[in-house]
Amino acid sequence: MKKIVFSQLNHFYTSLSFVLYHFFVFSLAGWFLIPFKIGYFKDIIAFGAFSLLFYFIFLIINSYKLRKWWLLISSFMLSTIVFIKIIFYYFYGVKITSSAVYVVLETNINEASEYLSTYLNNFIFVIFIITFLPVFYLLNNYFIRKNKSQFLDILLSFKPKSIRIKIIVVLLFFISISIIYINFRPENFLFAIAKSFKEYKETKKLLKNNLAKQESIVLTNVVGLEEPQTYVVIIGESTSKWHMQLYGYRRNTNPLLTEIKKNLIVFNDVITPDVHTITAIDKILTLSDAKNPYKKENGSVIQLANQAGFKTYWISNQKPVGYYESIPTLIGSAAKSKKFIATDNYNYDIYDESLLPFIEKALEEKGDKKIIFIHLIGTHVSYHKRYPKKYNVFKNEYKHLKFKNKKTIEYVNTYDNAVLYNDFIVRSIIDKVRGKDIKSYVLYFSDHGDEVFDTMDFIGHSSYHATKPMYEIPFILWLSDKYKKSNPTFLTINSILNRKYSLENFIHSFSEISNIKFDSLNLSKSIFNSNFMYRPRIIKKNKNYDSD
Ligand SMILES: [Zn+2]
Repeated sequence: MKKIVFSQLNHFYTSLSFVLYHFFVFSLAGWFLIPFKIGYFKDIIAFGAFSLLFYFIFLIINSYKLRKWWLLISSFMLSTIVFIKIIFYYFYGVKITSSAVYVVLETNINEASEYLSTYLNNFIFVIFIITFLPVFYLLNNYFIRKNKSQFLDILLSFKPKSIRIKIIVVLLFFISISIIYINFRPENFLFAIAKSFKEYKETKKLLKNNLAKQESIVLTNVVGLEEPQTYVVIIGESTSKWHMQLYGYRRNTNPLLTEIKKNLIVFNDVITPDVHTITAIDKILTLSDAKNPYKKENGSVIQLANQAGFKTYWISNQKPVGYYESIPTLIGSAAKSKKFIATDNYNYDIYDESLLPFIEKALEEKGDKKIIFIHLIGTHVSYHKRYPKKYNVFKNEYKHLKFKNKKTIEYVNTYDNAVLYNDFIVRSIIDKVRGKDIKSYVLYFSDHGDEVFDTMDFIGHSSYHATKPMYEIPFILWLSDKYKKSNPTFLTINSILNRKYSLENFIHSFSEISNIKFDSLNLSKSIFNSNFMYRPRIIKKNKNYDSD
């Protein structure tokens, strides 16, 4: 009798390996990757309860064949979940939340694969092998090996014999579900995904009915000047001021802009409100701000320009993904004329110079009042794909590297080459506009920067790491002679160049230099205005960028 009980118990333990493996892998990896211990324990308890659900179902299945399949399906699902969770923590340092999922879903596939190729390393490979080991094991035993292993046989045969125990198992199943539902909803992967996806869809629908239209009902009493004007706004990509010669970087990454430096108004202390393209663009180009992202009743600078009587252009070198899919595309589609250079047949070697003929064409077209928005691919990862061979100038080791190894030398070089090429693009656009000799400005800024081993051993941008090079961006203005003549007192005090400004209030600065007025215009939020008021620069919803 004792022996039977003992072997029953042994079999029970064997069958528990059904869930224990994944639990063990996740607990171990999570210990190193999850930043806060309370979050860690909540997450592993939730995951444990979740895996038990699969096990309870297994226990009440009678048919051997069905059990085999359930074991395989469960292992596959648990492996996938553990893999995604670990990778998510590894990249973002946060658990899966709606905004994290938003960023992932909004990152277009091409960008995502580039992102991965930048980050793809042995870690991901090893994690993949480890998390999917049970699946490989089962596939091997089910389909390749003829003789089943004894271990697997015991696992598959173990089941509660009495009805009473079965009822208890069913009860435990529902208890687990309610525990997960009541206490751990945010920790649970499926709940998180379902909730995030719902929120994502809702936001998308809202924006589509709102920002993609030519005019916004939120922007009222919009008035522009009735005289010939042509303005150009260049939205850069991933270019941090930390690697720009104009901002004191010790490599000549901006020879062409430096050449015309005395004609440029270079603002020294401008930050982006967010470090991801979509979340940043939403706050920069619309009425959304750090505290109110994805405003429901919203208006953008493009709609503002339309309503002020400008002919608007959106010329983009970023893939639109289904035209209405991505936030920048939605905002850009409010423009009267839209051109996406990088369309479906996306070619990796489309450099930003392919935009130049379209900019030229827009400048040539009839019309007195124009605003041209240009969305660059800029210095987005993978850096070495952003410039033609001619710009492969920085090949040796940068003398002031903080983290010195083969990888950092190469990344810093390719990033600097991309910044050098970007210098050529911005200068070329300024030259084109200057050649027209009209009342105009060219304004250049980047959506956010990248950390390229400047302050930590990390490359790219992520709101978890949130380092200074990710926030500190170039903000550079060029004015034509005719513009200066019609606004002789505009921007003549040098001290304004050191104003601490976050681009969450960009719409007010944009209105001022474009001579547009509207009801909610607040000139104390314009970096150019004499009544400018410093206000705390909020990042991550409630953190003050300047307070540490
Ligand atoms: Zn970006």
